[in-house]
Amino acid sequence: MSSPNERAAEREVVDICRDLIRIDSSNPTSTERRAAEYVAEKLTDAGLKPEVYESEAGRSSVVVRLAGTDASRGALLVHGHLDVVPADPGEWRFPPFSGEVQDGYLWGRGAIDMKDTVAVAVALARELAHDGNGSARDIVFAFFADEEAGGRQGAGWLVDNHPELFEGVTEAIGEGGGFSYPLDAQRRLYPIECAQRGQAWLRLTATGRAGHGSSPNDENAVTALADAISRIGHHQFPVRLIKPVADLLCESSELLGEAFDSRDPEASIERLDAGLRELVAPIIRNSANPTMLDAGYQINVIPGRATAGVDGRFLPGMEEEFLAELDELLGSDVQREFTHHDIALEAPLEGPLVDAMKAAIRAEDPDGYPVPYCNPGGTDAKHLSRLGIACYGFKGLRLPADLDYARLFHGVDERVPLDGLRSAVKVMRRVLKPG
Ligand SMILES: [Zn+2]
Repeated sequence: MSSPNERAAEREVVDICRDLIRIDSSNPTSTERRAAEYVAEKLTDAGLKPEVYESEAGRSSVVVRLAGTDASRGALLVHGHLDVVPADPGEWRFPPFSGEVQDGYLWGRGAIDMKDTVAVAVALARELAHDGNGSARDIVFAFFADEEAGGRQGAGWLVDNHPELFEGVTEAIGEGGGFSYPLDAQRRLYPIECAQRGQAWLRLTATGRAGHGSSPNDENAVTALADAISRIGHHQFPVRLIKPVADLLCESSELLGEAFDSRDPEASIERLDAGLRELVAPIIRNSANPTMLDAGYQINVIPGRATAGVDGRFLPGMEEEFLAELDELLGSDVQREFTHHDIALEAPLEGPLVDAMKAAIRAEDPDGYPVPYCNPGGTDAKHLSRLGIACYGFKGLRLPADLDYARLFHGVDERVPLDGLRSAVKVMRRVLKPG
């Protein structure tokens, strides 16, 4: 089934993405207001009635709901964020907010994180406004502020202050998955994100006996902290396969004609090619990386205190084990406190929505294979899950094999292939308008 408008969404998605890239919505050096106004205008032009919400001046999010035919069905939320991380123009091939089109790519900050997905959603919302939301479910489109700084001014604020916007929403599609990942020369994986690791950002403090730098001191806080940091930094947490990661490993091994032995996962992972190992490396175990150190003010003074920062991440269901293991590494001389603490997520990778995502990939990319995925980090899904919403990461973006997608995230020369952007419209249309 196709309508004349379906072509319009493919045509306009590049322009919408380019317009959005040209609006500098860097977080924290700018705000989301102009990007939100642009999105609201595009939706209003199509006959929709979006609302703009601000947690504080300029920190704008946009929400619009399209009614389905059956109010008793749970609603679907499609969400993206309007902010981007800052960019240093000196490092880029083209100015990062110029939205240059060159070599089949649209270049600029936000091209894949995530003004691409926002543009796809806006183009499809406009199409649904014209054609009518043919699905039984309400579809809520939300474009949030502040994701890049943790979402407290965007998704988090709306969940706390306007939960009515998400009334009846049972499932959400946002960022974190659904991009293609090369399996071999011909075939691609499309990891559908259904889980996220939790965050345990920790400040470590060692306290000792202050004194003169020339005197012996067996209670030196710097030494105690350094010992603990060294133990943590060199520690390898054990491999722990949660279901989506085990399935990802089994299914991709099978596609490659190899057997994955779940009784000896490390050896099986070792046999995978480098690309796949890189994809799974951050999600087969908990992790803790020392990232900050602070102690002392004068070279001949032993300070009474030394502090460090550690970025800790734990898999769903493994927070307790993670903290117990970490405490053993810390020892008795070093205390820890959370500077940021967020839950891990896991949603079932089954049901009609998940089936629709898988079918959409297979239909638009015969060499594409949807597989389960766990996000090593976190997204706005963390806030939305507080409302009991099952959150998935999916964008339907097909990428050329030689494009290092992971490196473009928050990186230099961020860019999105024009044909990938157009095909993402087709994939997402199949998800939003099944049948
Ligand atoms: Zn993002």
